[in-house]
Amino acid sequence: MALVVQKYGGSSVADPQSVKRVAGRVVAAREAGHDVVVVVSAMGDTTDELLDLADQISTGPNGRELDMLLTAGERISMALLAMAVAELGHHATSFTGSQAGLITDAAHGRARIVDVVPARLRAALDAGSVVIVAGFQGIAQDTQDVTTLGRGGSDTTAVALAAALGADLCEIYTDVDGVFTADPRIVPAARLIPAVRYDEMLELAAHGAKILHSRCVEYAKRYRVPLRVRSSFADDATGDLTAGRRTDIIADTSGPTDTERATETAMEDPIISGIAHDRSQAKITIVGIPDKTGAAATVFTALAEAGCDLDMIVQNVSAEATGCTDISFTLSTAAAPAALRALQEIEDRIGYLGLRHDDRIGKLSVVGAGMRSHPGVSATLFAALAETGVNIQMISTSEIRISVVVHVEDLESAVAVAHTAFGLDSEHVEAVVYAGTGR
Ligand code: ADP
Ligand code: ASP
Ligand code: MG
Repeated sequence: MALVVQKYGGSSVADPQSVKRVAGRVVAAREAGHDVVVVVSAMGDTTDELLDLADQISTGPNGRELDMLLTAGERISMALLAMAVAELGHHATSFTGSQAGLITDAAHGRARIVDVVPARLRAALDAGSVVIVAGFQGIAQDTQDVTTLGRGGSDTTAVALAAALGADLCEIYTDVDGVFTADPRIVPAARLIPAVRYDEMLELAAHGAKILHSRCVEYAKRYRVPLRVRSSFADDATGDLTAGRRTDIIADTSGPTDTERATETAMEDPIISGIAHDRSQAKITIVGIPDKTGAAATVFTALAEAGCDLDMIVQNVSAEATGCTDISFTLSTAAAPAALRALQEIEDRIGYLGLRHDDRIGKLSVVGAGMRSHPGVSATLFAALAETGVNIQMISTSEIRISVVVHVEDLESAVAVAHTAFGLDSEHVEAVVYAGTGR
């Protein structure tokens, strides 16, 4: 018998029929003898619809009230799922994030978990109940107000509960069979990845693969939570934890050693594990900024004070005639207005010529641990993009990732061409998207 945490995303509980289907899966795990904790997201696109509603009422809603509104979505699903499990003859109890003991800081809309005290969940499990928890929410330690963890945060709720309860497995159920080599919605030739390392998954998630919330992967890595992604639509609800198509997120202990790699005695690891894309970023360029000591410090201090989280930064070589240079950076589209305001406020102090804002960009990231020991990955990527006529605007790298910024209209074809160039295309279609609107 195991303790299993199962998380069901919005598309898995989009309507009453789906809620009943999920209840069947939960009950199968229970009847196989496992203790089951379920984390649910809001039904379908409910969170987006609640945001649209708020938008019609207020141009800048208060963070506390917005969190009160958004957490209602998950409360609806948790209560309905508890009812559906009861209909199948099993006892189920639902809990809000606060009742589940998910304690956060007070940063509304992007709260971080500071403690998990799952006493009520433990008691309900001991009493033989299936436990159902509303995802993506907690309660602030200081203010006792309800908070949310940020979009996609229910994955993080599931992993945090799995860590606190010492669960044997955390299963993320969604509308695809697992993690693919690219988003199946744009690359039909994508392949299912049976196992991927925490670090690679973290790079994919942090650079736009929304299949997992990146903080959930960080958390799982830190607490060594066995994490699995699978489909809630597959017809394999037997409660057998060893069966079914899926992706396991694993620690970097497997795979060939460097010597084995050099002598090719071990099975070859793919150099590239997957490709992520992100349409949610904007690029800002500060044109004609004097190239003198302290200018960059002034710029980036102002941006940090405005709470802007930056991604890529590029500074050009200064033009000899003017002694000026350009600095470009990317950040989330939502943070761009605050960044522009912050830069306008320091204009007198640093004296730049102008600001350029471009939100028609997309980022493509190629990720793979094999990059460490294989030269030529950037060359393959850049050549493939050049052959398709895709212009690269910015480049950044980590030890196991290469990212490029391109025009948003080129993004999908860039992902497809890179997928082919790294030999990731599957011969038969295995990338099925069972539900969801991709919103
Ligand atoms: P949920 O509602 O279950 O949380 P999400 O919409 O957040 O589901 O995440 C699932 C979606 O992630 C898939 O439908 C798919 O379009 C997208 N996705 C992006 N990158 C990948 C990838 N590499 N592998 C699988 N799915 C991906
Ligand atoms: N319902 C929230 C969202 O749509 C949280 C989640 O689904 O993980 O972002
Ligand atoms: Mg999600």
